[in-house]
Amino acid sequence: MKLTPTAFLELFDINLGEEIRDYENWFFEEGLKISESVDRMGTVHLKMFDRFGNRTDELLYPSEYYRMLHKAYRMGIIARPFEEKSLKFFYILGYVTSFFDPGLYCPYTVSMATAMSVYKYADEKVRDEYFPKMIRKNDNLWQGATWMTEAGGGSDLANNVETIAEYNNDKWTLNGEKYFSSNAGAELAIVAARVKDKPKHVKNLSLFLVPRYKKDGTLNYFIRRIKDKIGTRSVPTGEIELKNSEGYLIGKEEWGIYLILEALNISRVANSIGSVALAQRAVYEAQKFASRRVAFGKSIIDHPLLKRQFEDKSSQLLKAFALAWECVLMLDEVLFQKPPYSEKYTLFRLLTHLAKFWTAEIAVQNCKWAMEVNGGMGVLSEYPVERLLREAMILPIWEGTPHRQVLDALEVIIKKDGHKLLCAHLENLGEKASEIYELGERLKQMNPEEAEKNADIYINDISQLTAEALVKKYRIIF
Ligand SMILES: Cc1cc2nc3c(=O)[nH]c(=O)nc-3n(C[C@H](O)[C@H](O)[C@H](O)COP(=O)(O)OP(=O)(O)OC[C@H]3O[C@@H](n4cnc5c(N)ncnc54)[C@H](O)[C@@H]3O)c2cc1C
Repeated sequence: MKLTPTAFLELFDINLGEEIRDYENWFFEEGLKISESVDRMGTVHLKMFDRFGNRTDELLYPSEYYRMLHKAYRMGIIARPFEEKSLKFFYILGYVTSFFDPGLYCPYTVSMATAMSVYKYADEKVRDEYFPKMIRKNDNLWQGATWMTEAGGGSDLANNVETIAEYNNDKWTLNGEKYFSSNAGAELAIVAARVKDKPKHVKNLSLFLVPRYKKDGTLNYFIRRIKDKIGTRSVPTGEIELKNSEGYLIGKEEWGIYLILEALNISRVANSIGSVALAQRAVYEAQKFASRRVAFGKSIIDHPLLKRQFEDKSSQLLKAFALAWECVLMLDEVLFQKPPYSEKYTLFRLLTHLAKFWTAEIAVQNCKWAMEVNGGMGVLSEYPVERLLREAMILPIWEGTPHRQVLDALEVIIKKDGHKLLCAHLENLGEKASEIYELGERLKQMNPEEAEKNADIYINDISQLTAEALVKKYRIIF
């Protein structure tokens, strides 16, 4: 198995260029040390007041953190996809980033989701004011954030979004609290809210753009505190208070849920790409240790059991990447669609649920396994492997839990015959398509409770079969 992220990507004939290789080299030489020290530092400090008692809500990361963060922005991780009308560069750079630091990919991902929402759906005046600031290729770029989840829970947004948006004197103001808000401190955030007096219903969610500062220069939202997380410490996740915050409606009022899901889908594909990258890093760290550790007279990697496990892990990584990358290719095809969406969008949605669900689990399993291969060294926090498992545990949860992915995939199959679209898509890649068709039909024939009860088992099988079919697109020799 090729060990570095760029060497792995090349197995899939992905065109990289020198700057991506330079980015990878920078991480090996310098970035990884910065990333590790940010992780070890723990929760970033929130400085809430100035000496005169005014709220400032500043995050005190060391300057090296910003050097690391700005690198990909300077390379155009947000700008280039809009120039090229393709997200490939965004996801390739995300793969390399996540190999070293999956938390660092979060600011880029939520910035991209925000920029895409503004680009596609904001009023011309709002777009002209804010979009150019988001696609700068320098340190003055405005970052984005996507804040939907509230204290009642993130899975059921329809019933748990209590943030209220009110329209008065030609302006929207928002009041409420967001409980898990990554990239807290971002210059712009897209925020889910309910318009005043509308009852709780998924179709009554709307999406708003909320800048960090009001027009008069005062804070437009407040950071109540920063979460103390087990991993992804290179992105600050906070609790946000919206108090008469100025906002701009994005798209039509009744389109909120579609726009939220569009933003989430960009993130779910990023999560899948990041999960495979972290899973690869786990194999990389396991291989580095196992090649040098000697037991019973030879390197542990040369013992038959471990040798087979390494082969299994390598082959599974290829399948996982093929599945995640198919989402990237498919997203490029539907990127500028708006509701009502095409069948291709439905297929993209299904693939994305499968990929988010399946790859995050592989990341967790690989990181656990890498720890076992490293033996006692695996659990010591001074070495790299212990961190990997902490990082991995966040991947299945944010952007929608495994249950959510499984139940949403089930819905696409039951309501939209998603499995038939998937089979047609995989038709030329062998007999896996007919197995997927069978599983989808069996789910459809069950009563709803039975289908829901067994959904994880079926969706796991469908994900694996899809990945096995897709990897055949690439003639990989390793
Ligand atoms: C580090 C981190 C950063 C985050 N950043 C953001 C962010 O920037 N913006 C944002 O909006 N959110 C963010 N989140 C929130 C994240 O999206 C939620 O944690 C996630 O959606 C789950 O919501 P919850 O934690 O409230 O769990 P809940 O929704 O309360 O769910 C609890 C459990 O119940 C399960 N469950 C729920 N419904 C069902 C069902 N029908 N059947 C079976 N099981 C079910 C869930 O799968 C889960 O296992 C972040 C989370 C983390 C951990």
